[in-house]
Amino acid sequence: MNRNTTPAELPDALPPPEDLAVTGTQVAYWMVCHRKLWLFSHNLNMEAFSDFVEMGRLLSLERFRRERKKEVEVGRIKLDFLRVGEEVVVHEVKHSRALEEAHIWQVKYYLFALQSLGVPARRGVIHYPRQMRKLDVTFSEEDRAAIQEALEGIRAVLARTQPPEVERKPYCKKCAYYFFCFI
Ligand code: SF4
Repeated sequence: MNRNTTPAELPDALPPPEDLAVTGTQVAYWMVCHRKLWLFSHNLNMEAFSDFVEMGRLLSLERFRRERKKEVEVGRIKLDFLRVGEEVVVHEVKHSRALEEAHIWQVKYYLFALQSLGVPARRGVIHYPRQMRKLDVTFSEEDRAAIQEALEGIRAVLARTQPPEVERKPYCKKCAYYFFCFI
């Protein structure tokens, strides 16, 4: 997928409703591991028991206490917070930069979803409070096609009757599903 940063025009037409039935987490997992996406989407939600995820949640709660009140839900999509000034900017808080590419596509999906509903959102910011870093994300025209392609891919993975095979990846040891795959 392309990370280019030329802002996109807003779309004329709304996407089919099933597009917005996919969550941002599923888009991120599509980027990370199709097996993880399948397990998570079949309600095997090990993330709820993961120390890494809990640590990220607590950190986010502490650092962005005021903004947490601005959490926004769009269908099944849950945005950490929005800032609405001259433009609408999506903000996402993450614990670690290890899966930065997946975080970028998660935010791009949020921008895609908001634009599809007629909200003029073209920019996002990913916060990594632990590293005291921020990453700007801009939605480009090419991103729209890439997101639509990802959504098709996600639906194909979810339609499988069995989880995709284990594929060892550098982040497996920190994955909440490690015990399902390697023990
Ligand atoms: S442990 Fe590795 S292969 Fe298994 S779900 Fe997680 S990332 Fe995918």
